[in-house]
Amino acid sequence: MTERREEIRRKGLGVSQGIAFGRAYLIGRDTLKAPRHHIEADDIDTEVARLYKAIAASDKQLAKIKDKLASENESDYHIITAHQMMLHDEHLVGAAVSYIRDELINAEWGARKAVDDITRVFDALEDEYLRERRSDVEFVFERVLRNLLGRDTGPPSPPPDAIVVAYDLSPADTSQLHKAAVSGLITDAGGKTSHTAIIARAHEIPAVVGLENITEIIETDDLVLIDGGAGIVIVNPSAATVAEFRDEQRRQVAATSQLQAMRDLPARTRDDTDIQLYANIDMPDELEDAIEYGAMGVGLFRTEFLYMGHADLPDEERHYQAGIDVITKLNGLPATIRTFDLGADKLAPFLTAAALEEANPALGLRSIRLCLAELGRPLFRTQLRGLLRASAHGPIKLMFPMISGVAELRAAKTVVDEVKAELGAAGILYDEQIKIGIMIEMPSAALTADLLAQECDFFSIGTNDLIQYTMAVDRVNEYVSYLYEPLHPSLLRLIGGVAAAAKNANIPVTICGEMAGDPMIAPVLIGLGMREFSMSAVSVPEVKAMIRSLGVAECTALVKTIQTLPTAAEIRAMVSDYLARIAGPSKR
Ligand code: PEP
Ligand code: MG
Repeated sequence: MTERREEIRRKGLGVSQGIAFGRAYLIGRDTLKAPRHHIEADDIDTEVARLYKAIAASDKQLAKIKDKLASENESDYHIITAHQMMLHDEHLVGAAVSYIRDELINAEWGARKAVDDITRVFDALEDEYLRERRSDVEFVFERVLRNLLGRDTGPPSPPPDAIVVAYDLSPADTSQLHKAAVSGLITDAGGKTSHTAIIARAHEIPAVVGLENITEIIETDDLVLIDGGAGIVIVNPSAATVAEFRDEQRRQVAATSQLQAMRDLPARTRDDTDIQLYANIDMPDELEDAIEYGAMGVGLFRTEFLYMGHADLPDEERHYQAGIDVITKLNGLPATIRTFDLGADKLAPFLTAAALEEANPALGLRSIRLCLAELGRPLFRTQLRGLLRASAHGPIKLMFPMISGVAELRAAKTVVDEVKAELGAAGILYDEQIKIGIMIEMPSAALTADLLAQECDFFSIGTNDLIQYTMAVDRVNEYVSYLYEPLHPSLLRLIGGVAAAAKNANIPVTICGEMAGDPMIAPVLIGLGMREFSMSAVSVPEVKAMIRSLGVAECTALVKTIQTLPTAAEIRAMVSDYLARIAGPSKR
């Protein structure tokens, strides 16, 4: 510890952002082993009673931890409640008691065997989140075992500002650690959805998990530096490394406070044009963050999550609930809900089972085509029924993905009309004025935007696919990714054309592909006529900060110039020059 050890770098899974630097506090890999011995038949009742006593003691300890937490953190509270429920789970306790009785073994061994039976089931699960719940059963068992053996059950007590290093941490431990104001957490085990990760994020403690054997490398009091965003852990960092990370830390702190300050300011250009910034979400539970980042509503709710990773198809009620969930969480702010966009890279079990033999799935039976085909039409109708019912309760709009042209738009609208008629006949309420829009994400739609604008209420430009189909470059193929270029002159022409067609027809147009969240591209989009952006919520503050530094007239002039340039590289260079000029020497 006193002799200087060399710098060691390890990469794990960064699960909670931030940079921390401090002395390690090692919570050794637990060496508690369940003692195993056979018992006489006469001792069965004593062993069973020992087990129940240990369970009761564990329950009490968890209740105490919870009491202290209740007002501070709801999610920790619920996780610990779930652990208490596990303590009384009939399968677990019943199995342990049966082992004690039938195999004449001691309480510790009986409990171990019951826990092993259950964790084997968890190990076989495909769902990562559920698989990681294995560790919850282990944490509960660990506590019962400590009580059976009369060992210390108190929380670890690291010195303030320590970096806690552990094989894994139970939710009860993690939730108490923040009280000791630890500066970081690193563990051998764990994944993105492990509770160490969830709780660390909730308490904003930088954390890196999944480091495999970091507990064997680090000793208590070693100096450790962690970057919870990048997933980097550096043991015994050199002075130069510390200086480098201190700079990065200062940069991150400054950026965070600037962005927080940005939250309540409007996305208004210097010459007073308001730009609407919305969030793209995959699940309703992302909405709290979206609002926190300052989004004015949801510009794209991708509903595929209702199908992907679920063996059962979502029923009407599930769609209705998803719609209601969004409406409730947004509390009056608008949401655009996209009907399911499955196929190609977004596969659901029912599609895998259908085993379509397609040489080019990206050009195949996907998205709205699937909704209108025999295979997907019943699911489309079910989703529309659920969402239309939800529309009676708040401001939602419906949007169809991958519309190729007017004929397809009409076909999709016919299904909506049929479902509306069914609901009407049954006296079920829905928003009769519900707005229906389309994604513009293929050149055929962009080039006929004037015609499409006559038959729908709004457009949303999906540039992720629009780039793919315009450049003929698979959006997930690394070999051709150099061609995936949002600033290609063809894209600027298509986006500009769609914006103009929407303006002529007096309908709103949003841009919701990833490029909407790139601050560097904001002046180009504004210059092309875009006034509504939808993006991953974390990008909202940065894009807003950029918009506030721009002027519409300048952006329009910039776009006029870049439209004369023949390559994306030249366009990019000119935009960068412009941004450097408006930022001036002291900013950026
Ligand atoms: C897009 O294509 O730009 C888009 C937003 O949709 P997705 O990324 O879901 O295909
Ligand atoms: Mg798309």
